[in-house]
Amino acid sequence: MSEQVVSEKKKKDLYNKEVLLEVKNLKKYYPVTAGFFQRKVGDVKAVDDITLSLKKGETFGLVGESGCGKSTAGRTLLRLTDPTEGQIIFDGEDITNLRGSKLRKARRNFQMVFQDPYASLNSKMMVGHLVDEPLRNYTNKSHKELREEVKKLLKRVGLRAEDYYKYPHEFSGGQRQRIGIARALALNPKLIIADEPVSALDVSIQSQVLNLLKELQDEFDLTYLFIAHDLSVVKHMSDRIGVMYLGHMVEVGDKEEIYHEPLHPYTQALTSAIPEPNPLHKKERIILEGDVPSPQNPPTGCVFHTRCPVAMPKCKEIVPQLKEVRPNRQVACLLYEEENK
Ligand code: ADP
Ligand code: MG
Repeated sequence: MSEQVVSEKKKKDLYNKEVLLEVKNLKKYYPVTAGFFQRKVGDVKAVDDITLSLKKGETFGLVGESGCGKSTAGRTLLRLTDPTEGQIIFDGEDITNLRGSKLRKARRNFQMVFQDPYASLNSKMMVGHLVDEPLRNYTNKSHKELREEVKKLLKRVGLRAEDYYKYPHEFSGGQRQRIGIARALALNPKLIIADEPVSALDVSIQSQVLNLLKELQDEFDLTYLFIAHDLSVVKHMSDRIGVMYLGHMVEVGDKEEIYHEPLHPYTQALTSAIPEPNPLHKKERIILEGDVPSPQNPPTGCVFHTRCPVAMPKCKEIVPQLKEVRPNRQVACLLYEEENK
C-alpha cells in the first residue's frame, strides 16, 4: 500500500476506535503568594479549561509556544500534579480524585518521557536500575528476571545489553533519551506522554528517536500525547493536533487539515513558520509581535487578541468557545462563531 493509502486507512480506523483518555474542562492554577504570611495574591492560570479526547492507538500532538501550559497539561493529566478543576477519565475510569494505592495502580498505565534526558535520569543510578525501577515498584520479579527483561528492553530501544552496567554520563543525549524510553516502556503502559522528547537533541539525532517512538507505538499498542513547541516536529508523528495558547486549546483537527488549512489565526501563524521545502509554494510568514502574556494576568476576552493580526474590538470582551466548525475540526475564535459575527 502507498503511504497515502496507509494513512487514510489509519485515519478511518481511528474514528472507529475507543477513547482511551478523556479530559473535560481541565484547569490547573498555581497559587501566587506574597509577603511574610505567604498570603495568596493571585493565580498562574497555566491550564485554563481544556477539553480533549485521545483514541486508542493515536498520536495526539499538542503544540504551542513555550509557556502555553503544555507541560502542565501533560503532568496534570497523569495526576503528577493535582488538577484545580475538571475531570480526567482514563480507560473508562475517573482518575480525577484517585489517591493512595488506587492512584498508584492507575499510574502504571501511563508514563512520561521527558524533554531533558540529562536532567530527568538520576546520574547516580546504573542504567539497569534506572530501567528496572518501575518493575521493582510494581512487580515481584526476581533479580534474574528483572535483569533479563531490562536487557531485552535496552536492545529494543537500540542500546546494548552491556549498557545495563553503565551510568547515564557515559551516554550521548540521544542514547539517554533511549534509556528514558526503555524506562517508560518497562511496565507496558497504555499511554505515553512524550514532553518535547527531542527538543534537547541535535537535529541529526532527532529523527532517529522519533522513528523509534513510531516503531514502538505499533509494537506495544501505545497511545501517545506528543508535546512540542513547533509544528514541524509533530508533523511526522501525529494523527491529530491540538494547538494551545496561554492555557487554552484554540484549535483541534486532523494533522493534514491543520497543516493545509489552519483556521485559528494563532495556528496560521505557527504553520507559516514551518520551512517550506518547495520554493514554488512560498508562503507568507506571519510574525507574531511580542511574547506570550503572563498567565497570571491574561488578557480579557480572547487571550490571543493582544497578538492577533485580525483581532476585532469584540475580541477584547467575549471569550470564544472551542466549537466544531466542520467535521472533526474545532476552533475557538469569534471569526467562526455565527452568533458573534
Ligand atoms: P509549556 O510546557 O507550554 O512551556 P508550562 O506548562 O511549563 O508551559 O508553563 C505554563 C505556565 O505555568 C508558565 O507561565 C509557567 O511559568 C507556569 N508554571 C509552570 N509550573 C509552575 C509551578 N510549579 N508553579 C508556578 N507556575 C508554574
Ligand atoms: Mg514544557
